[in-house]
Amino acid sequence: MSFNNLGLSAALLKSIHEKGYSKPSEIQEQAIPEILKGNDILAGAQTGTGKTAAFALPLLNRLQNAESKRRRVRVLVLVPTRELASQVGESFRDYGSNLRFKTSTLYGGVSINTQIDKLKKGVDIVVATPGRLLDHLNQKTLNLSELETFVLDEADRMLDMGFYDDIMLIAKQLPKNRQNLLFSATMPPKIGKLANTLLKDPKSIS
Ligand code: AMP
Repeated sequence: MSFNNLGLSAALLKSIHEKGYSKPSEIQEQAIPEILKGNDILAGAQTGTGKTAAFALPLLNRLQNAESKRRRVRVLVLVPTRELASQVGESFRDYGSNLRFKTSTLYGGVSINTQIDKLKKGVDIVVATPGRLLDHLNQKTLNLSELETFVLDEADRMLDMGFYDDIMLIAKQLPKNRQNLLFSATMPPKIGKLANTLLKDPKSIS
């Protein structure tokens, strides 16, 4: 299998080539076509499997296919830690380097005002930890009313860290009609419960 057969745009194939990836990983081969179709996904994937590109590449492709002049948050990725937020944000910037989208990374422990200034200028993709995201929603400095895709990355870790209620509070504020992607290294029953609540007819990938 080659990246050329997955349905990704020329601009994204160029970024993949620049990264030096020769072929898609297993999770990428399975997830990319389903995400491009707009399906919900429940994916079992550990770190190191190429899971970030498995969602970032097709989501950038979808943004590009329905590109518009007006910036608004169209993709939200929730992650458990600030380290992961930085990494995932960097991946979106890297893979999207030949596209015009802006990614904002929101996590606690740093000034909220710098984040607010960036959000005011307009962003397409937000990668965030739950607590700081809720701060922005409560302060109305972030508008998710036009969100298209909601991603939960390392969902098992988020639940272990006690973020279940925060995830639910956030999900309540998103448009009902949206794509949902859930990635988790392990699949304990509580992930099944979360998936049942959030996902619509998900394709299972492992
Ligand atoms: P992740 O599982 O998303 O944390 O990715 C692990 C590492 O694999 C990252 O350093 C990526 O840059 C790299 N990577 C992702 N996809 C590929 C691929 N198709 N070929 C080679 N390396 C990749």
